[in-house]
Amino acid sequence: MRILLVEDDPQLGQGMRAALEQVGYTVDWLTDGLDARNALTTAPFDLMVLDLGLPSLSGISLLKEIREEGNKIPVLILSAHDTTADRVSGLDCGADDYMIKPFDLEEFYARIRALLRRRMDRASPAISYGSIILDPAARTVTLNGKPVFLPSKEFSILFLLLENAGRVMSREQIEEKLYSWNDAVESNATEVHIHHIRKKLGKELIVTVRGVGYMVPKTA
Ligand code: CA
Repeated sequence: MRILLVEDDPQLGQGMRAALEQVGYTVDWLTDGLDARNALTTAPFDLMVLDLGLPSLSGISLLKEIREEGNKIPVLILSAHDTTADRVSGLDCGADDYMIKPFDLEEFYARIRALLRRRMDRASPAISYGSIILDPAARTVTLNGKPVFLPSKEFSILFLLLENAGRVMSREQIEEKLYSWNDAVESNATEVHIHHIRKKLGKELIVTVRGVGYMVPKTA
């Protein structure tokens, strides 16, 4: 899951990026409204965390513009303003949720999970697939009720493929969700991760579609 974080306060931005990366999200952090608007057209972000007071283009203006263009990306506003009018105008401009600074980190994580879940039209927080259960909140995977440890990237790939069960994901699509602009990607990294997932959860779980990509079949 790739998150665009737009926050011009260096300390807060750095802290939030670290906090989000720690729980397994891929994060691109920008400090400027116009840069953020450009970024949205160049990478497949799953969610945007948006500060309101920003240089060159305010959070509200950015939000209005992208919604007018039909961009449906989930947006969580972070604001130092704490009046009902601010919250109402943020939500009315197309935000999906709103948090007031300073905020509790656990609540921040939970709201992000809820927005991502809704975006995929998923009712329950955990994903069940055959004898596999993946819990995004705890970042755990079980097979037949027994815990299976997946390091961060393997977990993210499995999560992505399970959420998109029945759809083929190309290596590029997977890597765009797994790596930010600052990350260096080794050329065979995805193959290696998938090899490890198959070893742990069964080789038939992830199908290789030659020349196209990878897929978890629709029904287990
Ligand atoms: Ca600000």
